[in-house]
Amino acid sequence: MRKPMMAGNWKMNKTVAEATALAGQIVELTSGYTNVDRVICPTFISLSAVKAAVGSAPIGVGAQNCYWEESGAFTGEVAAAMLAGLAEYVIIGHSERRQFFGETDETVNKKTKAALTAGLTPIVCIGESLAQNEAGETQSFVSGQVRGALEGLSGEQVQSLVLAYEPIWAIGTGLAATSQQAGDICGGVVRATVRELYGEAVAEATRVLYGGSTKPGNIAEIMQQPDIDGALIGGAALDGKSYGEMVRITSEVYQK
Ligand code: PEP
Repeated sequence: MRKPMMAGNWKMNKTVAEATALAGQIVELTSGYTNVDRVICPTFISLSAVKAAVGSAPIGVGAQNCYWEESGAFTGEVAAAMLAGLAEYVIIGHSERRQFFGETDETVNKKTKAALTAGLTPIVCIGESLAQNEAGETQSFVSGQVRGALEGLSGEQVQSLVLAYEPIWAIGTGLAATSQQAGDICGGVVRATVRELYGEAVAEATRVLYGGSTKPGNIAEIMQQPDIDGALIGGAALDGKSYGEMVRITSEVYQK
């Protein structure tokens, strides 16, 4: 049985003080829901303060990016190994990084390998654009992204990471995919590609999240999809109460 995960991607939001306060609120609001993995991903500069605010509470902290080299002349970058002690997770290949910062399947693969080597759990994002969706290219494109991200990884490594299917047209738009659509791609494309590459046991063990305009009002339906193991949450994770509510609802869905 895969444990559900609610991962909050805070993007480029919250000052250090605001991030610290939000982390404290999340610890308070979600401490009872231990059947859900909770992960919060602030900006790099807030990692240390958020880690301290989380303290011994079982809430994971994640970065939103990392670089694959260990050190050197790479101005502005942060090595995966440098995140050790500050984070347990790292989001890799978010569509905003692919769109605005030139990330490709190849760099996503390098970052994923570096994260795993550093002992971090990568949350690897994949998802098609509206144009690709409308052209009927979702399956081939998303499957290709999964293959690109996982190139050269062992089955053991793959089942330790998290894949997040995030259709670009649903991110920050208020237009969530229907739970059926999201479940079909998470199962029929993302998990199916893992199955094709690594076999049934690895596919069944690998967590696949959905992301794109999730909120308290639609999370129950989304979490009822058998191939969706959680959500990568943007906007709704910036508010402690709405994130806490999504954790509570997920916890209930999984008790049934
Ligand atoms: C995201 O950016 O990963 C995301 C899913 O954003 P939102 O929930 O705001 O659509």
